[in-house]
Parts: sequence; C-alpha cells; structure tokens
Amino acid sequence: MSETKRIRLAVIPGDGIGTEVVEAGLRIINHLAEASNGKFEFESDFFPWGCEYYLEHGKMMEEGGVERLRGYDAIYFGAVGFPGVPDHVSLWGLRLAICQGFDQWANIRPIEFLPGVPRRLNHPDVDSLNWVLIRENSEGEYSGIGGRNFSGRGLGKEVAVQSALFTEHGCERIIRYAFDLARTRKRKKVTSITKSNAQQYGMVLWDEVFSRVSKDYPDVETDQWLVDAAAAQFVLKPEELEVVVASNLFADILSDLGSALAGSLGLAASANINPEGNTPSMFESVHGSAPDIAGQGISNPIGAIGSAALMLDHLGLNEEAELINKAIAETTRQGILTRDLGGTYNTDEITDSIIENLSKVK
Ligand code: ATP
Ligand code: MG
Repeated sequence: MSETKRIRLAVIPGDGIGTEVVEAGLRIINHLAEASNGKFEFESDFFPWGCEYYLEHGKMMEEGGVERLRGYDAIYFGAVGFPGVPDHVSLWGLRLAICQGFDQWANIRPIEFLPGVPRRLNHPDVDSLNWVLIRENSEGEYSGIGGRNFSGRGLGKEVAVQSALFTEHGCERIIRYAFDLARTRKRKKVTSITKSNAQQYGMVLWDEVFSRVSKDYPDVETDQWLVDAAAAQFVLKPEELEVVVASNLFADILSDLGSALAGSLGLAASANINPEGNTPSMFESVHGSAPDIAGQGISNPIGAIGSAALMLDHLGLNEEAELINKAIAETTRQGILTRDLGGTYNTDEITDSIIENLSKVK
C-alpha cells in the first residue's frame, strides 16, 4: 500500500459564522480521511485569532502570527468582523496580513449554479452556468497606499488619499494564471475587466499587459469589458463568462454579484493561492462573519465546504475534492437547503446530508 499522505492544517475559525462553517468543513474532511483507508490523514491546529482576540489584546493575532503559520500545508479560514471593531482593522490585521505575508497573489473564486437552488437569474441554461473569477490578490486597490488629514497643507477640511498600485509584474502573473487556467477548461476563454477609460494609469497598464500576454495563448479566446458594463453583462449574458480576471477590488465586488446570482453569498468558495508553492495557501468562504445570523446555527456551510474541496485539490487530493463537489450538488438537488436559499435546514443538517451523499456519489 502506498504511504499515507499527512496533511497539517492551520485553522483560523475567526468570528461569527466563520466558526460555524469552518466546523462544517472540518467534519467533511474528517469523514473523508477516515474513509480513505489510510490514503490521507490530517491534523489541525487551531488559532483563536479574530475580533474577540482583538478586544482582549488590542491586535487581531499574536506578534509574529503569520510566521507561526508558515510550516503548515494549508490554512483554513473562517471569517473576521465584529460590530465594534472597524472592518478595516479586522481585515488588515488578519486576513490581508496573511495573504500579503505569504504572497498569496491569486484568489480563485468559482461561481457554480447548483441544481435545486432557487436563483435570482432567469436564464434558459441556468443549470449549466459556471465560471471562475480570478482576483488579483496582492496589489491594486488593496495596496494600502495613502494617508489622511492633509488639512495642515492649506486644504481646509480633512482630505484622504487612497492610491492603487499596479505593477507590470503583478498584472502579468495574474493574467498568465488566468490564461493557464482557461487552457484546462472546456471553453478556452478569458475575460479581463478594468475601468481603463477612467483609471488611466494602472488599468491602462493592465490592459497593455493583457494584450501582450494573450499573444502567448493563441488558442484562448479573449474579451475585455469595463467594470460597469461587466456588472450588467454578469446578469444579462452570463453564458459569456468562463475565466474572468480582474483587479483586487473589482473582482471582489463581482464575486458577490456572481454568488448572489447563483443563489446566495453563502455558496461561494475561495482559495488564496501562492502559485510558487513555497508558502501555505489559504482557503475560505467568500462571505463575511454575518453578525445578523451568527450563533443561530443556520448559516449556509456550502461556501466553506467548497473551499475545503479547493484545499484538498490544491494538496493533490483531486478525487476527494471532486467527491465533495458532487456531494454538495446532490444535497442541493434533493432540496436540502438553508434559509438563505429559501430552505429550512440548519448548518448541521446540511453538513450531515453532504456527508451522507459522499458515499452515494462515489
Ligand atoms: P464582510 O465585510 O466581512 O465582507 P459583509 O458585511 O459583506 O461582511 P457578510 O457577512 O458577508 O457581510 O454577509 C452579508 C449578508 O449575507 C448577510 O445578511 C448575511 O446574513 C448573509 N450571508 C453571508 N454568508 C452567509 C451564509 N454562509 N449563510 C447564510 N447567509 C449568509
Ligand atoms: Mg462583503
């Protein structure tokens, strides 16, 4: 028998429903490991970082926290955010610190239209729709460049500056990633989204890099949209989407739009990848801590469970990842849905059903 694959996970449940959905995802991985006949084992170490930690210690994670995660095979992340802690503090203090600390420059966000889910999109082939959003995850509008209060310089009332950094290197690596991914899909197409008519420096650079890189992929179809038109096209012509690549901010906005079209923000999975593979990648659902429903056990765990599938796929357990996705689709097909999708099932019940379906879809 071949050697057992051992996976060491760093788990950061975070705040609100982050803790609930991470628990659901770990139940799925645990079940698969136990049923794998020694193919793989996993152990997880928990890091209690997040807003509660912040309220006690004045920071989102311990000193040198990012370094403590370096030796792990992957990071499984819940969500951060809590009323009373400014969102920019919780985001920069933990999630972005990890993404940037480990140079997880590619954020992969598949949008899947699952069977049995009531959708907000009326499209003749709605069941066959799916696309992948590739979000530039290291620079752009999230570069943190700027400052506040320049009023001492004769500018009167407070003034704030927020700049976006676009580098040729950063644009090129994410655009190539999108083209390489497109080559693995049935329809080979990349759509690039910018606002280069109004953002005349960084996004024009992005467009130029896109045109240059596309020449290395003559087998891949291309399309370029401005973000405002793209928002409309997501709704009107979703069948045109296959692999979509956009800047940090635009792709974030469009992924909420895409997942809402597919039925709920709670469905969306995501992977923050360091494609060089020399640091751990991080897997998390797209949604936030959802304080409005936290603690009730009713959150939709599918985004987090789908993220666990992305994680296993990244770790070379491709069959297991595929099993998870099939089991999710079987559960929704059976009409076993959480409240955000119009159902009545709670987080644990959905997870039980997916576990049950893991053996059925094999
Ligand atoms: P963040 O600032 O962290 O992105 P947010 O303010 O955008 O957070 P979310 O936590 O993402 O808010 O939630 C947005 C809305 O979607 C809320 O009403 C929430 O209840 C709902 N929602 C998000 N995730 C889920 C989920 N997994 N299951 C059910 N509902 C969800
Ligand atoms: Mg949000």
